[in-house]
Amino acid sequence: MITRTDGIILRQTKIADDRRMLTLLTRQFGKISAGAGVGSGKRSRSQLAIKAFTHGRYEIYTGRSSYSINSAETLESFYDIGTDVEKFAVASYALELTDRMLAENAMNEEALELLLKFLRLLVRRQKAPETLLAVYKWKLLGACGYAPVTGRCVLCGSRQPASSLSVVDGGVICEECRSTRHPNMRLIYDIGFDIIRTLEYIQITEFDAFEKLVLNKKTSDILDMIFRDYISYHLEIDGLKSEAFLKI
Ligand SMILES: [Zn+2]
Repeated sequence: MITRTDGIILRQTKIADDRRMLTLLTRQFGKISAGAGVGSGKRSRSQLAIKAFTHGRYEIYTGRSSYSINSAETLESFYDIGTDVEKFAVASYALELTDRMLAENAMNEEALELLLKFLRLLVRRQKAPETLLAVYKWKLLGACGYAPVTGRCVLCGSRQPASSLSVVDGGVICEECRSTRHPNMRLIYDIGFDIIRTLEYIQITEFDAFEKLVLNKKTSDILDMIFRDYISYHLEIDGLKSEAFLKI
């Protein structure tokens, strides 16, 4: 069966001279792996459309146990990202993270729209691209169904302002519930109201609103640390390869 769908290339691996294996986030099928023979050899429109940082339209053949790409055309290219070291690092991390967080063959249109928004904003961004990445990460976590609860205590439902976040419990916890937890319990962060409010703001605010916003370094670092624990604990994701580039 042939299906036409748009999507973004997350990763590609060469498997033979004229064949590649692509990991694509598509609107129709979610994340898939697909073989592609197109684009090898002579330069063609298809060749560009199967590169990373491309939003393309793909004609995909569904076999009994695998997908392959019949043809591809570019809808939007984000190649400019590759000319800026910082943006490239941030985008590479976002693609790898997306690849790791999404399950194969599970439709997730929200994740695709988020990634498109992230890449569009990143192209236009003048400074501090890491703020966009911070926002993207938490929004993606939400699109995967793991958004931390922030508006109320995740344990008792109290709407008293909370200043602690428990990774294990999956959200903020009020002072009373905090006092019943062991003071040194693993993965509880006593981070204060401001950072929790920032996290809540990231989750409920449209991505476009962050076009020019810059998170301060301290807030950003704390949120990063929690995020790392979050995906490690809930999704068993550790040690992304592209993480090293972010430190440069
Ligand atoms: Zn509580």
